[in-house]
This record gives sequence, C-alpha cells and structure tokens, in this order.
Amino acid sequence: MTALSPAEFIWMDGRLVPWDDAQVHVLTQSLHYGWAVYEGIRAHETAAGQAVFRLRDHIARLRRSARVYLMDIPYTDDELIAATTELIGAGGPGPRYVRPLVYLGYGSMGVALDLSAVRVTIAAWAWEEQPTRNWRLMTSSWRRNHQDTIPPLAKATGAYLNSSLAKIAAVRAGYDDALLLTASGHISESSAANVFLVSSGVLHTPPVEQGILPGITRSTVLELADVAGIPTVERPLSHAEAYTADEIFLTGTAIGIVPVESVDDRRTTTEGCGPVTEALRDAYREAVGGKSPAAADWLTEV
Ligand code: PMP
Repeated sequence: MTALSPAEFIWMDGRLVPWDDAQVHVLTQSLHYGWAVYEGIRAHETAAGQAVFRLRDHIARLRRSARVYLMDIPYTDDELIAATTELIGAGGPGPRYVRPLVYLGYGSMGVALDLSAVRVTIAAWAWEEQPTRNWRLMTSSWRRNHQDTIPPLAKATGAYLNSSLAKIAAVRAGYDDALLLTASGHISESSAANVFLVSSGVLHTPPVEQGILPGITRSTVLELADVAGIPTVERPLSHAEAYTADEIFLTGTAIGIVPVESVDDRRTTTEGCGPVTEALRDAYREAVGGKSPAAADWLTEV
C-alpha cells in the first residue's frame, strides 16, 4: 500500500482541476464493470531537472490497452505527453509517480457498455519510495488471468482483481509478493511486476505470448543486458525453475529492480542480490537518473 500525497492539480479531460475537485459520479460505468485501462509512469530527478522515463512507450501501451477494450482515446500521443509534462511541471520539483487512466464515465448502465463515454485523466504525485530489501515470494493459489479470458497484455483495471487477490494473500501469509503461474503452470509474473531468473549467468524471462504484461522495465532490462553482454533467453519457465535459480529479480516502473531472496522459502543460490541483478540494477538506475548518455532517448524532460 502506498499512501497518496496530494498534489495541487489533476488533469481531467483536457484541463487541470484542483486535486479535491477531481471527482466522478458513483454511476461511472468503469466503477461498476472494471472497464478502464491505465499506466504507471515515473518521473525521476536528473541533473537537468525532472525527466519522465520512456513516456512515449507508456502512452503507446496505454493506447494499445484501450484498443483491446474498444476505447478511442480522444487525444493524440503528443497531446497526452504534453499534458503529462505540464502536470508534472505544475507540481514543482522532485520525483513523481504518474497515473493516466482511460475510463467510461456516467451515461448508461449495463454490460453493453456505452463506449462513447470515454474519459481521460492523469494524476501525478510525489513518490520516491522504492523497496530497499530483497523480497520473499509466495506462489499464489490464484492462476494469472488466462489470455483468452482477460488478456494480461492489456493493462486493464479489472484485470487487477487477479493481482490483488494474489498480492493480499501473499502479504497476509507474511511474504512480500505473489508469484503467479499461467493456466499451464508456467511462471508468468508477480502481482505487478515481471520476473527474471538467472541460471549459470544466463538471464531467463517468460515470453509475452505466455500471458504477461509486456513491461517497459522488462524491455529496458533486456536492452541493458544486451549492452552488458549478458545472454538472455525468453522462454516458458517451469515453476520449479524458481526453486533452482541462482538469482531472481522483479522489474516494474513502481519498484524498479527488486532482488528476490526466496520463492516458497527456497532461497536462491545467491540468497539475495546476485552479481547479474546488481549490474542490471545499477545500469537501470543510471538510465532513469539521466546518467547514461546511451539512455538519453528514453527520457522526456519536463
Ligand atoms: N506486470 C504487471 C501485472 C504489472 O502491473 C506491471 C506494472 N505496470 C508490470 C508487469 C511491470 O510493467 P512496467 O515495467 O511497464 O511497469
């Protein structure tokens, strides 16, 4: 759980409104049917001021998610990018978490949703927090949404019923996060992050076709591994491979790169942050912090 730290404004349907006035009607369609798509983006402090990491890629994924759910976003990518930087700029200096949401507003009620009622909002608030210790994972008894049920490649609010069921159960059992398996029993992802295993110096992660969110941090890590000369393989991973890996880590915009020390109480060989995880975490921090000239294209200055 992360407490909200209110900012001055929220961008709603084309204009900045005061934080407390950013309200919706209780009969908002998305509230009843979970039909909305969203993004989680971060702006980091760099030597040149605030910069948003891979903003264009996040907006592109938002639009792809919206397409799955038949919602036409009535703004161009450039307009959404300008809205995001305007909003962050209006909030003053410091790191930010940014949450665009595309949803169906008030207007009708029923499963045959009124798809013309598309609304767009973007919120940004101060958020520096990141896990500082290694995580212990518990395999969830809940399976990841099946691709033919609720496709995990779209970041839809309703899909997070599955993530929250798994995360809450794991936290109640004393773990940091859940490891979710696909319907076929392969490793998919955690409640809100992608999973990587390191075995004999090779980086392994499940392919997107297996039913995971195509994480932007995941794709960043694959590129950084390539630059660092770390071999990578995208392939289906059996559950038990999580018990024999040398290193395991999670990737996500909110958490960055978090080393995993155990899965179901089986400790990784390195029992925490191994050398491959550490090298990639350092490279990632440099990229988001604007300290890597090669990663400059990934940053949008505010
Ligand atoms: N999987 C799930 C289910 C997620 O919610 C997230 C967070 N958006 C991720 C993976 C990681 O994606 P990203 O690196 O783009 O934040």
